[in-house]
Amino acid sequence: RMVHETAYYDILGVKPNASAEELKKAYRKLALKYHPDKNPNEGEKFKHISQAYEVLSDPKKRDLYDQGGEQAIKEGGVGGGSSPMDIFNMFFGGGGRMQRERKGKNVVHQLSVSLEEMYKGSTRKLGLQKNVICEKCEGYGGKKGTLEKCSTCKGKGIQIRVQQIGPGMIQQIQSMCADCQGQGEKFSSKDRCKNCNGNKVERQKKILEVHIDKGMRDGQRITFHGEGDQEPGLEPGDVIIVLDQKEHAVFQRRGDDLIMRMNLKLVEALCGFKKTVETLDDRVLVVSTRPGEVIKQDDVKCVQNEGMPVYRDPYDKGQLIIQFDVDFPKKHWLPEHLMFQLERLLPPREDMMITDDMEEVELGEVEARKQQHRSNSREAYEQDEEGPRTGMQCQTQ
Ligand SMILES: [Zn+2]
Ligand SMILES: [Zn+2]
Repeated sequence: RMVHETAYYDILGVKPNASAEELKKAYRKLALKYHPDKNPNEGEKFKHISQAYEVLSDPKKRDLYDQGGEQAIKEGGVGGGSSPMDIFNMFFGGGGRMQRERKGKNVVHQLSVSLEEMYKGSTRKLGLQKNVICEKCEGYGGKKGTLEKCSTCKGKGIQIRVQQIGPGMIQQIQSMCADCQGQGEKFSSKDRCKNCNGNKVERQKKILEVHIDKGMRDGQRITFHGEGDQEPGLEPGDVIIVLDQKEHAVFQRRGDDLIMRMNLKLVEALCGFKKTVETLDDRVLVVSTRPGEVIKQDDVKCVQNEGMPVYRDPYDKGQLIIQFDVDFPKKHWLPEHLMFQLERLLPPREDMMITDDMEEVELGEVEARKQQHRSNSREAYEQDEEGPRTGMQCQTQ
């Protein structure tokens, strides 16, 4: 992937080789953080995040962007088609515009969850502030039958201001009536409900119990129907909880599989080992090599049925994949006069014939400068991928 411009990737905080899954996760986190409901002063940022995601989540637009940057998107006429809110609602399942008119809006919250909780299942209590219909006036706003026509706007709900913009030129500016909030009617102060101050709703704290089932995944949504803000005449929207899996110190998750790295001493790699692994439900597994087995750097082994529980089928589990790192000893670890003893035990070397017409050269260290240059190149990104390639299957032994 040749990328000329990385601004969209930078906004989302991902690398230019990010997978579709990584892009989704980045958008999810940022969109929830900068949503106008949560962060009213960051509207521009929310817009930029949405624009970047709209382009990068579409393979065709992403190719176009990678080749020609933002300029190509503008010229191709494929950018900026959707509003940030449409993108957000599409992503989080907020329903279409028609539906939203009869229904209050959905509220999305992110819940940070540990891998242990997703393994064992857990219940979390979440305290939320929400609008509920005022109990005192039952959402009427004041004493029944005392609603009066607003005198400020004469019941129209709008105010028209006339402004002179030049000699003999006037302009009419129309705005919502602030006195009646555009309703055209209001209560006089003595009839207005004291409990909600005529707002028809009051703020209340509500505790939601969120059940995290075994095997639930990062990004999974749990919907509480009708638990959104209440508003007179509208069906309340939903509260949607999006799970955000915390990083784990030992395990990485891929689907239902767990992946970990295990360090081996050279002696363990060559002569065999027994080592322990603590599971997410606090059991201890003992893994060992079979007699005669040799483990090399980056070898991968697996344990059946010790991965994550399968969602809605928790007795079935994925696999535990172990990737090995072999620690070689440091130089001069063995006194020179003992080397021959070791050599006697190792597989024999191949004899080389050195002749006079060959050139002897020195084997030095690679210069740091050159190494740095390499890791800046795009190939280095590809090597950053975590874990073994997909499609790996655990063989039953
Ligand atoms: Zn009230
Ligand atoms: Zn009015």
